[in-house]
Amino acid sequence: MTAAPPRPRILLSSPDVGEREQELVAEAIASGWIAPLGPKVDEFEARMAERCGRGHAVALSSGTAALHLALLELGARAGTAVIVPTMTFAATANAVVYTGAEPVFVDCDPETGLLSPELLERALGELTAEGTRVAAVVPVDLLGRSADYPRLDAICERYGVPVLADAAEALGASCAGRPAGSYGHAAALSFNGNKIMTTSGGGMLLTDDGALADRVRYLSTQARQPAVHYEHTEIGYNYRLSNVLAALGLAQLERLDGMIGRRRALREQYAAAFAGVPGASVFQRAGDAADNCWLTAVLVDPETAGWSSDDLRTFLDGAGIESRPLWKPMHRQPVFAGARSFLDGSADHLFATGLTLPSGSALTAEQVETVFRALGTFLGERR
Ligand SMILES: *Cc1c(COP(=O)(O)O)cnc(C)c1O
Repeated sequence: MTAAPPRPRILLSSPDVGEREQELVAEAIASGWIAPLGPKVDEFEARMAERCGRGHAVALSSGTAALHLALLELGARAGTAVIVPTMTFAATANAVVYTGAEPVFVDCDPETGLLSPELLERALGELTAEGTRVAAVVPVDLLGRSADYPRLDAICERYGVPVLADAAEALGASCAGRPAGSYGHAAALSFNGNKIMTTSGGGMLLTDDGALADRVRYLSTQARQPAVHYEHTEIGYNYRLSNVLAALGLAQLERLDGMIGRRRALREQYAAAFAGVPGASVFQRAGDAADNCWLTAVLVDPETAGWSSDDLRTFLDGAGIESRPLWKPMHRQPVFAGARSFLDGSADHLFATGLTLPSGSALTAEQVETVFRALGTFLGERR
């Protein structure tokens, strides 16, 4: 018997980049427009604004940069609060801290993991009553499912607080017939390497507010006043996206629907694999037709199942397959210890029971087979 050759680890969500990306990046380099800006950036912004149904798009170096600059423009600063779901990636809360504002964490719907409208209402009520100014509410489109904007918008409007949509995970999804990124006074997208599409690193601010888009463009290019000697009247940032990376984004955008289709097919396959397994269910499965299926997760009730999400994670790890718990809630993060929070235990419960599974559109047929064979073995042994 000969030993099987070592196989690379199967990851949750790897970049899906091929010939078309190489072609457009080579074109950008050949054109001489390398950095910082150029025609590919303009085209990328125009295409993305169109795709998301927005008047303006500003290409930036990351999704975090888009959140940071939008928050600054919405008036987040020391002495103000910004409401953030506790069930999110740290970038949402970090951007708030960059502005000097205080992040206030609010729990989620126990089924969807999305910002709870009831608890948001309670948080806004309490903060407003005590005279704390809330600069913005930042709903997060968790794992590619849009937040409940119709309800959240109505609540925020009553309190006169603007919505900044963190749509970093949700490009291509929609909510009530409108695309992700079209909600909120402004929205942030991410093109990080693990997202539904990538520029290797990048992000975008979307808005219908032309003045806001202009201000974000200005702040993201070091806040240079139009003078030959670069006059500066305020602090700027170096947050723009390069022309070469915008070319990568254009190729990815052409392929976006195909990549979403592959992730959706994996979602279907996981749903079939867990169908009839006691105590296990696919997260956000109900009503997922409008989601982009960025990551598929399974929720495991260990009492009913007789095994836990961590048992599955350990087993998959041994088979060279990456899986990961849902986002550790922000109120549990040491760096945010003591932060003000409005909680009901839902995020804690999802964190304890949820496991995200390989969901990337670049997975090969062989890798998919390896994942489902391992999953079948694990479930078979526990029947
Ligand atoms: C990825 C992500 C971000 C940050 O995007 P970057 O481009 O990595 O800075 C922000 N919010 C959420 C919810 C994310 O998943």
